[in-house]
Amino acid sequence: MRREACWRRLVRREIERLISFSRSLAREGRLDEARIAALQALEISKSTRVKMPRRLKRWICKNCYLPLIPGVTAGVRLRSQGGMSYLVVTCRGCGWIRRFPYKR
Ligand SMILES: [Zn+2]
Repeated sequence: MRREACWRRLVRREIERLISFSRSLAREGRLDEARIAALQALEISKSTRVKMPRRLKRWICKNCYLPLIPGVTAGVRLRSQGGMSYLVVTCRGCGWIRRFPYKR
């Protein structure tokens, strides 16, 4: 329904707003507040069942909810293994490591 789509768009906008707020807090070194904002976005997504866009979700630490910003809160390097390339992201808040397949 149209009304439903509209509501979802509003929720998604709120999620995006929280994530960008969270990232700016992290850039200022306010990591605990950044985690709270990111967690709030995840909770809104969960309770409303509006999916968080993947491009946002993959840059939140699954372990401590820190927004992962390359060079600020995350270390990012490229690794090749068996003909595949991976982006290896390390959370500087808790040391959590995640690999993403990377297409060249
Ligand atoms: Zn972490």
